Amino acid sequence: MKITDVKAVYPRYKHLASSWRTRLWQIVVRVESDTGVIGYGYGGGGLAAVEVVNGHLRDLLIGASLDSVDDIVSTWDALYTASIPYGRKGIGIMALSGVDLALWDLLGHAERRPVYELIGQRSKGKVTAYATGSDAEWYRELGFTAHKFSHHWAGSPSDYDTAVERSARAREVFGADARIMIDTYMSWDAEVTLEMARLLRDYEIYWFEDVLTPDDLSAQAALRPAIKPTLLAGGEHEFTQFGFQEVARAGALDLWQPDITWCGGITAGLRILDLACTEGIPVAPHRGHEVWGLHLIVSSDCLDLAEVNQGERGATGDELWIGRPRAIDGYIEPSDAPGFGVKPDEAML
Ligand SMILES: [Mg+2]
Repeated sequence: MKITDVKAVYPRYKHLASSWRTRLWQIVVRVESDTGVIGYGYGGGGLAAVEVVNGHLRDLLIGASLDSVDDIVSTWDALYTASIPYGRKGIGIMALSGVDLALWDLLGHAERRPVYELIGQRSKGKVTAYATGSDAEWYRELGFTAHKFSHHWAGSPSDYDTAVERSARAREVFGADARIMIDTYMSWDAEVTLEMARLLRDYEIYWFEDVLTPDDLSAQAALRPAIKPTLLAGGEHEFTQFGFQEVARAGALDLWQPDITWCGGITAGLRILDLACTEGIPVAPHRGHEVWGLHLIVSSDCLDLAEVNQGERGATGDELWIGRPRAIDGYIEPSDAPGFGVKPDEAML
């Protein structure tokens, strides 16, 4: 088939929060083909990424042939190369991610197969879900067996006490064998991280996430051995296999968390996984419960672990993707519908 049109849209989100992280500036990309089959993808980068897709990548895509995974890969390479002057990382690659995912969805619909089948042999059935948020008791009630909470270092020694209290509560609620993780969103520094490793040792935290900024690779490499057995995790702000090559070269992280809607889509995700396998590094995609990460998890060497941003009890949010799978009793799995198995709510586009 041939691509006949490409359009990126910034959805009409109703439940906006003050932080960009809550709505994540996610964009929808729609790709049309001459067979009438349509593919949808999800990218990052907000209105700037919409402009990258509609003002540049679209022209390169119209008329291109798409009949195989190899075609998607060569399209990715062409778009990456064409966007190098402004791309490589950040908004350019977040835009490319949305296009890449739309192409995987398009091919899945054309072949009437789920994307995980296009990726390879399905190796996992139900995926173990972990609940991210602050309501440990509720997540346990829902059946989750693993949990991540956030901790923000605001500059006061009492922040150590907060971390100890939350860790103790999570361990008590989830029990001795559960995986408990902490996301610091780049608010700790090396000194705080070392002290936290000492103070939280008894709670056996599985990983500390995003403790420093993604550019501080050498300092993270120095922390890795010092906080063992806790793992140093990160990567949601890293882009493409080229970015992760630098992470590998520096030996900066124990566990990689690429965001499939930001790092370059499934095509980049598979290349990042190849690199991780060579390096012996486990991979757990950021927001792995969303179909873009979930299809990759079930058909690859990713860890059996999908992040679910469960939020707060009774909270309302936008339901952009119709048909999205949900965690049940602590597990989540993709449907066997064609493509990614979801469609955007047209009223939001
Ligand atoms: Mg995070």
